[in-house]
Amino acid sequence: MSVLVMKFGGTSVADLGRIRNAAQKVRREVERGHDVIVIVSAMSGKTNELVGWVEETSPLFDAREYDAVVSSGENITAGLMALTLQEMDVPARSWQGWQVPVQTTSAHSAARIEDIPRANIDQKFAEGMKVAVVAGFQGISPEGRITTLGRGGSDTTAVAFAAAFDAVRCDIYTDVDGVYTTDPRIEDKARKLDRIAFEEMLELASLGAKVLQTRSVELAMRYKVKLRVLSSFEDTDENSGTLVCDEEDIMEQNVVSGIAYQRDEAKMTLISVADRPGIAAAIFGPLAQAGVNVDMIVQNISEEGRTDMTFSCPVNQVARAQDALAKAKEAGDINFHDMVADTDVAKVSVVGIGMRSHTGVASRMFEVLAAEGINIRVITTSEIKISVLIDRKYMELAVQALHDAFELDNAA
Ligand code: ADP
Ligand code: ASP
Ligand code: MG
Repeated sequence: MSVLVMKFGGTSVADLGRIRNAAQKVRREVERGHDVIVIVSAMSGKTNELVGWVEETSPLFDAREYDAVVSSGENITAGLMALTLQEMDVPARSWQGWQVPVQTTSAHSAARIEDIPRANIDQKFAEGMKVAVVAGFQGISPEGRITTLGRGGSDTTAVAFAAAFDAVRCDIYTDVDGVYTTDPRIEDKARKLDRIAFEEMLELASLGAKVLQTRSVELAMRYKVKLRVLSSFEDTDENSGTLVCDEEDIMEQNVVSGIAYQRDEAKMTLISVADRPGIAAAIFGPLAQAGVNVDMIVQNISEEGRTDMTFSCPVNQVARAQDALAKAKEAGDINFHDMVADTDVAKVSVVGIGMRSHTGVASRMFEVLAAEGINIRVITTSEIKISVLIDRKYMELAVQALHDAFELDNAA
């Protein structure tokens, strides 16, 4: 029997009507002969509400209890989806992560899936169950505590199940009909891509395109999962949506394939740091230990043995970063004159495999931003992407101007 994985995101299960709509899509696949594993997210807004409750109750919360609370949104939709399918005469039952069990690391709120033993679900399929509805985003640690996989983690649950069950495909149903050249919410000229290469999708996701969680793309690439993004609100068929696939399977490549942004970034500068061997380790070690996700880093030329060190991180981690650096200074591990945080910046990135063989993308990007009067604060590049940090108020303008300049509205 062929297994198909279908994942429904928060807006696709936002109320009972939408759950019914999603269940109809599932029933259609059962009628086509598949055993289906359905992965559900919490109803849209639910996880934010749960996170809010935790933060209000306990500002420095115990991450294990955070996971106990925040994972619960998915339990509700899993049960409701199973009930809805049963009402349609489709044999279905729900599974919470621990029941499968979805075995994860103990890194609470950012756990990784280590293994998904198939036995329990396989046995039910063998007994005639047609649909296993699994609560996404959650698992169980070796210590037996409930874990969550990081925001957007149901995508990763879906791909991990597709890999574990050798699924014919992993379909990610969401509120857009595929992966676009940029977020269609901020650029109406964004165009849907029929196919996108794993590597480009990985960059777009890690640079802010939240249509797929980064880790889900990594897993799909590693385990060769056939991954597709499509709309839960439209009629769909075999050819709908966007297929995430190997580079070789894409006929025509553009130099730039997409633009991503991260709105809530912050830039921090340590002024007048003693420039000596080991200084970067002395700064970024404590930041890593404090759980600060440092992204871009720039060290200025030093004068008289002192330099400025600038880095970016998510805006909600600034307080934690300041605290870690102040402690390191107090302990005498680092020495700086001042610490300045700019919390009004955003990151905009252009991504494309074609950049490997074409020069001039960076200079074009800088010209376009200059023409709009947008100042670039930090730049980083890799083989297939260029990212800039700019003032947040120019973020939409930058995305739109770059989308135009790289002619993404009429890309192949
Ligand atoms: P779900 O709740 O189904 O998981 P998400 O909100 O996590 O959905 O992801 C879908 C959203 O991702 C879209 O509504 C869209 O605004 C956003 N998005 C950002 N970049 C892109 C892109 N390049 N292509 C498609 N959607 C994108
Ligand atoms: N409900 C979780 C979140 O909002 C997981 C997911 O939807 O993928 O982050
Ligand atoms: Mg999502």
